[in-house]
Amino acid sequence: MLPEISWLLEQFRQMLNDCIRIGLAENVTSLKSLSSKAYRQLSRYDVVSYYKLCAISAATGILRNYRKAKRKNPYVKEPYARRLRLTTCYGFKVRDGELSLPIHAREHVRISLNQHVLATINGFTLRSVTLTEDRLSLAYADEVQQLQPRGFIGIDRNLDNVTVAATDGTVQQHTLSEATRAKATYRDVRSHFKRNDIRIRRDINGKYGQKQQDKVKHILHHASKLIVEEAKAKHYGIAMEKLTGIRRLYRRGNWQGRWYRGRMNSWSYAELQRQIEYKARWEGLPVIYVPPHGTSSRCSICGERMKPEENRMLRCPSCGYVVDPDELAARNILAAGTLRFGVVGLAHEAMVAEPAPLQQSAKSMRGS
Ligand SMILES: [Zn+2]
Repeated sequence: MLPEISWLLEQFRQMLNDCIRIGLAENVTSLKSLSSKAYRQLSRYDVVSYYKLCAISAATGILRNYRKAKRKNPYVKEPYARRLRLTTCYGFKVRDGELSLPIHAREHVRISLNQHVLATINGFTLRSVTLTEDRLSLAYADEVQQLQPRGFIGIDRNLDNVTVAATDGTVQQHTLSEATRAKATYRDVRSHFKRNDIRIRRDINGKYGQKQQDKVKHILHHASKLIVEEAKAKHYGIAMEKLTGIRRLYRRGNWQGRWYRGRMNSWSYAELQRQIEYKARWEGLPVIYVPPHGTSSRCSICGERMKPEENRMLRCPSCGYVVDPDELAARNILAAGTLRFGVVGLAHEAMVAEPAPLQQSAKSMRGS
């Protein structure tokens, strides 16, 4: 623990005990009367006034509990704070991945936050910070300030690419073959070790597993960044498939062997969604998850079951739409997301904003 933090915790504990002593002596428990009795006595502490207010507030809670307990049991012990624990609702800030806490006037202590914490609090308003000797807890308000989207992008993840279909009719693919290759390489390395020594195998798996994950993460970060940048520029929300226990990727035909499936485990799919979601939340873009049923088999125009065509294309027997399976899935996810968001005016608004691509996509449906 940082020395400034332990110093602050100890100062806080002493202030709290001062307030408790004053409250007991003056027989007050309300915040207002305790403030007027105790605040001046706290002037000997060289900390920012935020913490004095917090100490007074914490003391009123303790004094009230004590008063209640004393009514039931007149021999109850007088309260005294021994633990180092500080909760503050004022003065702190999260900036550049760090929590900054004021100590003295114009003097702050910085605590770096890990990626998981940053992703969790991303887009929320922080309410309070609690510090103990070995723990930092952040309380956040459950409200996200979201943009009203002008449309959506539907994201479909495949073995070697991410396909993105947008309300304006554009379809883009981001290649991920590097990610698949990274996984394959490390898998080969692993399989050379003896299987029966669990202890060694676990260590090796840990080491290579981490390397592999880092490499794949890096590639996924590139793709997720581009995708969220596009959504942000167009003021679009993001729709993705809800992950279920069984990986949907295998369903796309029998040509994927067992080894192929193993290569593409659920981890990297979930990781891509996680990255997109937190980057999107950071920008205030809504993220919707749609059920995966039928996204790769139903016509995105009329809903009919698609039939396979030459060159891995799919054809709708009812309306004649011919489409690449990855694009079809992205379009269906986009449609489901837009529908789920329940914005009837959305399509109209998008049409007003970007008429040309929409007409283009309408033409391609009729033409086929
Ligand atoms: Zn159709």
